[in-house]
Amino acid sequence: MTVMARFAPSPTGFLHIGSARTALFNWLFARHHGGKYYLRIEDTDRVRSTQEAIDAIIEGLEWFGLNWDGSTVFQFERAARHAEVAHALLQKGMAYYCYCSPEELEMMKEEARANGLSPRYNGMWRNRDAHEAPQGVKPVIRFKAPQEGETIIQDLVQGEVKIANAQLDDMVILRADGTPTYMLSVVVDDYDMGITHIIRGDDHLTNAFRQYHLYKAMGWHVPAFAHIPLIHGVDGAKLSKRHGALGIEAYRDMGILPETLRNYLLRLGWSHGDEEIIPTDKAIKWFNLEHVGKSPSRFDMAKLLNLNGHYIREADDKRLVDLILPLMHPRLGRDVDTLGQERLLKGMKGLKQRAKTTLELAENGLFYTRHFPLPRDEKAQSLLTENALKYIGEVSRALSAYEGLWTEDSLHEFIKTCADTWGIKLGEVAQPLRAALTGQGISPSIFEIMEVLGREETLLRLRLGS
Ligand code: GLU
Repeated sequence: MTVMARFAPSPTGFLHIGSARTALFNWLFARHHGGKYYLRIEDTDRVRSTQEAIDAIIEGLEWFGLNWDGSTVFQFERAARHAEVAHALLQKGMAYYCYCSPEELEMMKEEARANGLSPRYNGMWRNRDAHEAPQGVKPVIRFKAPQEGETIIQDLVQGEVKIANAQLDDMVILRADGTPTYMLSVVVDDYDMGITHIIRGDDHLTNAFRQYHLYKAMGWHVPAFAHIPLIHGVDGAKLSKRHGALGIEAYRDMGILPETLRNYLLRLGWSHGDEEIIPTDKAIKWFNLEHVGKSPSRFDMAKLLNLNGHYIREADDKRLVDLILPLMHPRLGRDVDTLGQERLLKGMKGLKQRAKTTLELAENGLFYTRHFPLPRDEKAQSLLTENALKYIGEVSRALSAYEGLWTEDSLHEFIKTCADTWGIKLGEVAQPLRAALTGQGISPSIFEIMEVLGREETLLRLRLGS
């Protein structure tokens, strides 16, 4: 059997971080098994579905790096096929027309409430003859749900789950205007697309019982279900706005790398022993549904940022430069010039050691791209004492006469020797040099910076920056 999985978002807002994880699990499952992974946009709710949301989902998934097979399926375009299945169920005697008025439905709700039950349809038209139909009323089509016994699903994450069939009322599958309901569309699409595994949030678990009977009524094979627990905030409450950003694009804009988010969301609800760092190639190799946890996982921003620091250090330097250039533009008020770009590339080795986001990386790299005068932060300002300026002057003179290699190691060696000669600690001269060369109190190694800046710029900065 070829595994066929799908991600089926409803385009009613941004791509939620929890949905992104659902997409990831489906994608990993399909890739692990050498199967297919499809994207189906469930846009049947014409009022709430927007083009903007569709774009956000597609862009979000592309950024996240989850490529899907074939072309995107739009559910609404398949409405005629869904209606056809509703009529087929009618033919089979598994569905029926219902002519209830809104008032009658309201009464049923009231009645259920009065009996302490959840609102449900009472089967009024289940066994009524068509000739009793009121004139001029367009009927809906309802599915004949089983009334006795129980429905059991062997969920690949939740284990065996069951429901008493008495709880399943006869749901509408085709509205009076001929449009299908969500519950029908999902089943028909999953069947037609050949989906073998439905991996989705456990908020859909109760839907699975209803969907199960639609498959059975059509004589279709029921796919395997895997309902994954939702993501909670660090305080254990269901993830909501007050915990921070919910849309995937917000994480991108915060400077998180997609591979970080893949690793982080994977670990949020799935484990492989104690492994924390799981790059995507390993994730594909190891992913299975057996190790998806049954309880909700907690989203921890601090962990995400630490992991991002790791992936930034691992990332290709040129890629990082390309990522930060647009972030630098608004800070500089101009594009980074070619010289600045070259320095960023050379200096990336040091820069990326301490950044937890690409925003931070951009901020930290600005000094490579600035022209005079360099703005100074408070710490740099405080480092440039009279004594410090004296040492900067000494270093400048020594460096002007220096004829050795202009490399990090040689410069380190040289300035260390100078400091020794002057009877001071290296730090006493290194800190002021940092302030003069970068305008900052914190930076990568100043010897690395000197190498990247080159002799001329280093000497210029020492002269003008002190
Ligand atoms: N469209 C549904 C949602 O966005 C998902 C349906 C499914 O995965 O079966 O929640």
